[in-house]
Amino acid sequence: VNFVVPSMVFTSVLLMTFIFTIIIIFRQKKLTEMKNDFVNNMTHEFKTPISTISLAAQMLKDPAVGKSPTMFNHISGVINDETKRLRFQVEKVLQMSMFDRQKATLKMKELDANDLISGVVHTFALKVEQNNGKIESFLDAEHATIFVDEMHITNVVFNLMDNAVKYKKPEKELVLTVRTWNASDKLMISIEDNGIGIKRENLKKVFEKFYRVHTGNLHDVKGFGLGLAYVKKIIEDHHGTIKVESDIDVGTKFIIALPLLKK
Ligand code: ADP
Repeated sequence: VNFVVPSMVFTSVLLMTFIFTIIIIFRQKKLTEMKNDFVNNMTHEFKTPISTISLAAQMLKDPAVGKSPTMFNHISGVINDETKRLRFQVEKVLQMSMFDRQKATLKMKELDANDLISGVVHTFALKVEQNNGKIESFLDAEHATIFVDEMHITNVVFNLMDNAVKYKKPEKELVLTVRTWNASDKLMISIEDNGIGIKRENLKKVFEKFYRVHTGNLHDVKGFGLGLAYVKKIIEDHHGTIKVESDIDVGTKFIIALPLLKK
């Protein structure tokens, strides 16, 4: 007995150390993979607009373009759009790196959620149409006064709609449905698509920083895996909640609950 007990303790300690080492190695490997994916995606996201801008700038030098106001306007429009896209991407990365160090500084103000959402729907309509889709909105919340940071909450709605376009099924007409309603003392917002959907086992992970569902060559959509981490962070900083429901090949629905402003 004297021998057996210490040797059992020794064996279990050894086994636990072994298991811990394996876990640490796997974590490290996962982190390295995520870092590499992130750098690859970021390079792509920055390179594409930069190449387009430089190509467009070269075209402006062409004397034929100088003579045609239509062509000139078209090219300067492209430069403008791509610069905006670049700025939005830089902003997203900056905001996320800032969030690690500090709480988001929110410039709170009173506003009507239905108005804010219909504004985003309006600016987004053209993009959805260009991607062979339509937006249906049912802004039915009777009480919609919220006390929020307008820029961040607009970004949240924008990010969710942008994902609906990014992850649409290529062969299917995109139908993006946006709703607001009241449940107890909350303002509820849902943004639903009929896109590629997310597998059940990946649903929890989509809110993690840098997480992207691996779809192989199924769709060549690039991103940082930061959008949903940002969305969740902003909603929680506003004392709200966000959840996601999804079925593969059927679609995805994000549901947000935000506190209403009590008067
Ligand atoms: P990104 O789009 O930059 O990859 P996000 O954080 O916005 O990052 O999303 C994380 C992952 O969740 C995406 O890579 C995608 O696989 C999945 N996802 C997000 N929104 C949708 C959606 N509406 N439909 C299907 N998959 C989605």
